[in-house]
Amino acid sequence: SRYTKDDIFRMVEEEDVEFIRLQFTDIFGTLKNIAITSSQLEKALDNKCMFDGSSVEGFVRIEESDMYLYPDYDTFEIFPWRPQQGKVARLICDVYTPDGKPFEGDPRWILKKTIKEANEMGYRFDVGPECEFFLFHTDDNGLPTTLSHEKAGYFDLGPNDLGENIRRDMVLTLEDMGFEIEASHHEVAPAQHEIDFKYDEALKTADNIQTFKMTVKTIAKRHGLYATFMPKPKFGISGSGMHINMSLATEEGKNIFADENGKIGLSDDAYHFIAGIMKHARGMSAITNPLVNSYKRLVPGYEAPVYIAWSAKNRSPLIRIPASRGNGTRVELRNPDPTANPYLVLALCLAAGLDGIKNKIEVPESVDCNIYEMTPGERRAAGIENMPADLKEAVDCLVTDEFLCSVLGEHITTKYVEAKMKEWENYTTRVSQWEIDEYLYKY
Ligand code: GLU
Ligand code: MG
Ligand code: MG
Repeated sequence: SRYTKDDIFRMVEEEDVEFIRLQFTDIFGTLKNIAITSSQLEKALDNKCMFDGSSVEGFVRIEESDMYLYPDYDTFEIFPWRPQQGKVARLICDVYTPDGKPFEGDPRWILKKTIKEANEMGYRFDVGPECEFFLFHTDDNGLPTTLSHEKAGYFDLGPNDLGENIRRDMVLTLEDMGFEIEASHHEVAPAQHEIDFKYDEALKTADNIQTFKMTVKTIAKRHGLYATFMPKPKFGISGSGMHINMSLATEEGKNIFADENGKIGLSDDAYHFIAGIMKHARGMSAITNPLVNSYKRLVPGYEAPVYIAWSAKNRSPLIRIPASRGNGTRVELRNPDPTANPYLVLALCLAAGLDGIKNKIEVPESVDCNIYEMTPGERRAAGIENMPADLKEAVDCLVTDEFLCSVLGEHITTKYVEAKMKEWENYTTRVSQWEIDEYLYKY
């Protein structure tokens, strides 16, 4: 591991750290924290910091509310945007019950458990995400709007790209926090951006996604704008995805998805991994696409997937194989959006892929044409299924996929499904402006 307890004490001393944020993520993917002063650090590092879990959504009932935070020393990082005297640092924590057991409602634990299984098979799971987001104006009360003056598009530059200085600040801040930023650019829609950081082992990547979102929002706010990861903030333009690039490596670092002798440079295990994801994709979408709004992104015409298929040539299917081969060989899953809980997303991706490998699930033929242009009959003939059309269908698919439910565990499955059904109910029983505009006059 990266740091010992002594290292943490030394860094806190040398860097003049006054506050430490103990962070964890709830089952819906929201980052939470409690702050302690450095006088409480020893207690925290000895896993003695307690909090009341009953008010954390989806965590526990009032009768069993005491939870403990076990800091992961390796996640120590200083916030560059806070004061530079009396600095603020954070530690990402695992959540434990009072009897010293990992809390089964802690998404980080679910990912750790799944990674352990892969490690036991001799694999390391590497993941690189591509997070997209919008930068919007706030109103007079400081509340976010969906307004922007910007009209730039894909890969545009300044002065049309009004976000370049903010992206610059975001990238430099992320680098200060230990990120290796590979690229950043304007995305397709006006006011839409993407910043890509280097792949890493899955647990590190899930932590990084949480840190990334917090940082992007913080820096946007400093520039007077609001950064949103909402999947489809506006009708008629692209939504924001979080493509997940995945590979498995042996302990010696050999990428097992690569095979020079394979027809397109892919190994049998790569095909089985893809097949496993395709098999579980419909149920997984309740986690990878967690909001009512997520399904408004998964429509034809905006580079977001609608159909369950794979291709090495085309961007319309759910799974794409990017061009790089050898150790850079990877599988890109295109449906997840950045509002998903990254720990649960990566746990399910890994488990589903391993299910494919263990059971040697056969992958269907790749679909190398633009699937949006196929007729429903052609798709049926090719055996191509749809992704769920809405959150309700996704949740129904999740509860009938016993394998996925067992990966999530009973606690998370129950709380998650309960909350998502409520969210759906709340949404679908309301009368929308579209209905009024469309029906009131006509009927
Ligand atoms: N914004 C697109 C999406 O919703 C992805 C665009 C891209 O390929 O980067 O997934
Ligand atoms: Mg993109
Ligand atoms: Mg991509």
